[in-house]
Amino acid sequence: MAKHARTTKKAAPAARKAKSAAPVRKASAKAGRAVKATAKAARKPAKYVYFFGSGKADGDRTMKDTLGGKGANLAEMTNAGLPVPPGFTVSTDVCRLYYEQGRKVPAAIEPEMEANVRKLEKAAGAQLGSVKNPLLVSVRSGAKFSMPGMMDTILNLGLNDETVEGLKARTGNGRFAYDSYRRFIQMFGNVVLEIPKDTFEHEFDGVKKAKGVTQDTELTEEALRDVVARYKTIVKAKSGKPFPQDPAQQLRGARDAVFRSWNNPRAREYRRIYDIPDSIGTAVNVQAMVFGNTGERSGTGVGFTRNPATGAKEFFGEFLINAQGEDVVAGIRTPQPIAELEKVMPKAYKELRAITTRLEKTYRDIQDFEFTIQDETLYMLQTRSGKRTGYAAVVIATDFVAEKLVTPTEAILLVEPEALSQLLAPGFDPAEWKKLPVATKGLPASPGAASGQAVFSAEDAVAWTNQGKKVVLVRKETAPDDIHGMFVSQGILTGTGGMTSHAAVVGRQMGKPSIVGAGALRIDEKAKQFSIGGQTVKEGDYISFDGLSGEVKIGQVASKPSEILQVVAGQMKPEASDIYQRFVKILSYSDKVRTLGIRANADLPDQAELAYAFGARGIGLCRTEHMFFGEGRIPIVQRMILADNEADRRAALDELLPFQRDDFYGVFKAMHGSPVTIRMIDPPLHEFLPKREDLMVEIAKLEASNGKAPGLAEKKALLHRVEQLHEFNPMLGHRGVRLGITYPEITEMQTRAIISAACQLAKEKQPVVPEIMIPLVGHVKELRDQKAIVDRVAAETMKEYGVKVKYLVGTMIEVPRGALTANEVAQEAQFFSFGTNDLTQMTFGFSRDDVGKFLGIYQDKKILERDPFQSLDATGVGQLVQIAVEKGRATKADLKLGVCGEHGGDPASIHFFQKVGLDYVSMSPYRVPVARLAAAQAALQVKVGD
Ligand code: ADP
Ligand code: MG
Ligand code: MG
Repeated sequence: MAKHARTTKKAAPAARKAKSAAPVRKASAKAGRAVKATAKAARKPAKYVYFFGSGKADGDRTMKDTLGGKGANLAEMTNAGLPVPPGFTVSTDVCRLYYEQGRKVPAAIEPEMEANVRKLEKAAGAQLGSVKNPLLVSVRSGAKFSMPGMMDTILNLGLNDETVEGLKARTGNGRFAYDSYRRFIQMFGNVVLEIPKDTFEHEFDGVKKAKGVTQDTELTEEALRDVVARYKTIVKAKSGKPFPQDPAQQLRGARDAVFRSWNNPRAREYRRIYDIPDSIGTAVNVQAMVFGNTGERSGTGVGFTRNPATGAKEFFGEFLINAQGEDVVAGIRTPQPIAELEKVMPKAYKELRAITTRLEKTYRDIQDFEFTIQDETLYMLQTRSGKRTGYAAVVIATDFVAEKLVTPTEAILLVEPEALSQLLAPGFDPAEWKKLPVATKGLPASPGAASGQAVFSAEDAVAWTNQGKKVVLVRKETAPDDIHGMFVSQGILTGTGGMTSHAAVVGRQMGKPSIVGAGALRIDEKAKQFSIGGQTVKEGDYISFDGLSGEVKIGQVASKPSEILQVVAGQMKPEASDIYQRFVKILSYSDKVRTLGIRANADLPDQAELAYAFGARGIGLCRTEHMFFGEGRIPIVQRMILADNEADRRAALDELLPFQRDDFYGVFKAMHGSPVTIRMIDPPLHEFLPKREDLMVEIAKLEASNGKAPGLAEKKALLHRVEQLHEFNPMLGHRGVRLGITYPEITEMQTRAIISAACQLAKEKQPVVPEIMIPLVGHVKELRDQKAIVDRVAAETMKEYGVKVKYLVGTMIEVPRGALTANEVAQEAQFFSFGTNDLTQMTFGFSRDDVGKFLGIYQDKKILERDPFQSLDATGVGQLVQIAVEKGRATKADLKLGVCGEHGGDPASIHFFQKVGLDYVSMSPYRVPVARLAAAQAALQVKVGD
């Protein structure tokens, strides 16, 4: 998910360098003072403002940490000689200073900025505040990682009551001058003076209505002058001061407001979802304006070099004639597809295609660009790596390899590991889907099947989801503050907006099925309903849609497994599925570079088979207790637990043995000779017995109806045993190795089952590698005790079968003491497997089962950035892992090391495991493809011991 994982190999060292820039800067500042104190040696002062223009820029695309993504790419495009309006970037360092100094830009920076304004005036051939020849600028936010629409941008800055007349005189276009001014007052009023947008929009709509027009473009200069006057009245009334007329003051205010917008709630929420650190800050770009709103020969648009939904190699985008800035994405007017541009302005279109194709080659990634055409002259305003669906990511990366744009190794870095899990998501069963009529069709913004209950606000989406419901979020259009609702929904459906509208961009990035611009829907968000073709859909009614075709249906449709799963299950031929073949290609590139082994956590043969098909080469965790719940087994298990003497217990265990042996045989076979780690029984025994409360109710009922009912005595005995086994803190209670020590016959039976299954396979001349794992070891003597039993029983069993098999005995490292004394534990262990779930639980002292009650608050308060049960806490829990690795290997250099906790399938954690030098990671079968790719990226980006 963290899109900043998609650093190209080249950019990675730069990013690393920049990451350490902050401490370095501090250190050198200190050094600077020291130098000043001794000799007045000249030291280059820190640079805070970077110019771009007239074919040359101070920065380039590698400087995203300092310039933000937008600034770095504007610099790069300028250096490449592309038509970029000149400007300068105030660096992200200034944003950090702004917050450090109590939301104030240090005065020392003003002269550097002023010098750049002068330089810009020269490059643009116009002056800020000049009536004869006014320079207008945009003030644009831009952090290292793009956060579409989350922060603020102001256009047309520099206009005031006088310069607007100057602009009119210069262009001979009064309508345009006043259109620009009204836009400026609204943006400045909203962003800098914090006057709600609707206050302005309401007034604007009022004027439109009074003039009897529907489109903004139909308003005359006269009407726009009226709008400006009304806006100024609003500003005075709401802010208590007249609209500021001094352009220098406007500029400082806008700059500071952009810094302030870094911390607005939606930007913070976005960073939380995408794991972007709060500390990096945003840059501010000040850039000479070009105008798409001068008339019919002008326009503005956005686009992609390839289709970001499907990955298809097609020029993709939208534009609006006679418009400015966000008009295209805001969904105010419905934009035209970019192909139309070829008809109306062929020259500009041709140039745009040539430039963007070149950009794609330079960046070696799909580009998402913004442009403006002023009187038929094209200007590039932005380029960045395009956000895309998981599906598109895989298509594009494999196409790039075929086109020789990137090498297979580089292609690995073009796909987010999570993209592969999107490909495994279900679609609709075509037969079921066909049964319902199509209610309407919208633009297919993000593929995937969505079915759920309609809700009409982001808040409702969250509330309903919290009640366990599946919802589809229906909105006229989405805005950046809807993202929490979009995040939890099955899909997003909007009535307006194009393929590059907010809903479309965010939907693709989240991998959420999305349809936008379904214009036939009459959506009433207030009444929480929509109507279509005479039918009304109310909140809570089911709707379904297909994000690839754009079709919307009313009702619920069952989904079916993805193509890839069908191929894996043998229900579809690999040749018949294009996406399967691409999926396999990316994974095969990954396997060539990764150094971590990939295993799966699988308890049953069919899971093991799936894991093997996905590319797991080994089982990292086979939980034997899951087998105890299998059909016909639980009564035997309960008899074993109820036994009050060893003989009875052994009798029950003997009955269990053949079941376990057959399970192990199946799992071994599914792995074709790859190692299989089997964990001895782990949970507290009461988990296999009925709940105390349930038993009490049953007994009470039986006693009330018939005191002599058969089974009553058994129930009472069971209750007695349940009460005996009751623990106050079962997770720290009688479980894991502690069971094996108190009931050695359980260890004996499990060993016998494992080794006899292995012997059976050995006799069939099939390769088999059992690894027997003792859980929850905190003291070497616990392991020594159990290992003695395992070795004795294994020897007996092999003798019975008359064959020898190689097996290993090891332990899980999941108790902090086990990690801290790993040098001792390693004397008895041939392998360690980090059980990071329990290790996290015991290191934090957070109960895994209760943490949900307060974890959200911890995250809101930024006490914890992430759920430590999902993504390994590198600083604390990771330190224990590292200690155990070092101490374990000091005792036994060839100690095998792996991880079998949930973290084994988490890309960020995989990077950590690569760093500490584990041999393998293990995760649920469905996460195997994600882990293969993540491990390859880790191998490329992390050096062991970094
Ligand atoms: P965001 O990051 O939200 O996309 P931008 O800073 O890119 O914000 O600005 C949004 C839009 O404003 C741009 O796509 C462009 O249409 C318009 N814009 C920004 N700067 C200029 C400029 N110097 N001249 C003309 N239009 C501009
Ligand atoms: Mg932009
Ligand atoms: Mg455990």
